[in-house]
Amino acid sequence: MTTMNTDSQQQANENDSQVQVSLVIPVYNEQDALPELLERSLKVCRSLDRTFEIILVNDGSSDRSEEILNQAATENPGEVVAVLLNRNYGQHSAVMAGFAEARGQIIITLDADLQNPPEEVANLVTKCEEGFDVVGTVRQNRQDTFFRKIASRIVNRVAQKATGVKMSDYGCMLRAYKRPIIQAMLQCDERSMFIPILANSFARHTIEFPVSHAHRAAGDSKYSFYKLIKLQFDMLTSMTTFPLRVMSMVGLGVSFLGVAFGVFLILMRIIYGSQWAAQGVFTLFAVLFIFIGAQFVGMGLLGEYIGRIYSDVRARPRYFIDKVVRKDQT
Ligand code: UDP
Ligand code: MG
Repeated sequence: MTTMNTDSQQQANENDSQVQVSLVIPVYNEQDALPELLERSLKVCRSLDRTFEIILVNDGSSDRSEEILNQAATENPGEVVAVLLNRNYGQHSAVMAGFAEARGQIIITLDADLQNPPEEVANLVTKCEEGFDVVGTVRQNRQDTFFRKIASRIVNRVAQKATGVKMSDYGCMLRAYKRPIIQAMLQCDERSMFIPILANSFARHTIEFPVSHAHRAAGDSKYSFYKLIKLQFDMLTSMTTFPLRVMSMVGLGVSFLGVAFGVFLILMRIIYGSQWAAQGVFTLFAVLFIFIGAQFVGMGLLGEYIGRIYSDVRARPRYFIDKVVRKDQT
């Protein structure tokens, strides 16, 4: 992928300026929720007083979703865009496909299942226009299973630590991003990503506000247990290579214990005499610990290199320029 220089990017922004707000909605087997979703989001967008487009990405649904999207795009020209993927790639890939298509200055992501009210779009737009790069939302009275709530809480903690951005609900996809953030994300070549976290790694001014959360309008969660686990790993690895470093730390700890144990043995031997040391069995343990520790340190070191290879392979843009101000001398 080529890196856009600031000039052509400026150009692109100017060309796109006819669309102010883009909604990006991933859809996977949501035929029962779609009619209401379309109706409500069209209503709120039309009342925005801004040019808008609603981009619905069909993530390889096997029900009638594709048909409904096709029809909606035909019936609402200039307002509804259907992006049809050829198979199921997962929510975040679908959203990225939507980003690539979006032309708005403010881009808002939303789930198709109506768990978060589309009516909040108006507030998100206002906040974005106040100058925030990323606007998040926090689900109040979350209507999900106990297990998922606990899991989310842990993940949010870790994410806060790793990204250094204080946001309390990374799982909530009702979010708004400014154009430059989307542009930066589109330049990330990695295959597994977690959009809210990736976005925060490019954002400076962020804010979040509470929104209501409802039960799913129809159908079941599209995340099986396996898919959830996969998502957590995507999230973890997209944030940090810290887990690799844990190995070195464990190794150092074990080695240190080995040495301490050795010293302890020597002291006891000196104090209580030769019958104490059980014919050197304990000494063997001490030596063993030191070697096991050394092995872990070695693995951790390998991990460090793998971490670097990983971050190079991901090839995220190192920085992203907002604007260059250069005046010619005349
Ligand atoms: N989704 C998708 N592809 C998938 C799984 C989900 O596009 O493989 C969409 C789904 O249609 C919905 C959103 O992602 O719009 C969130 O999914 P879901 O509501 O099932 O997740 P949960 O609310 O249970 O976290
Ligand atoms: Mg949902």
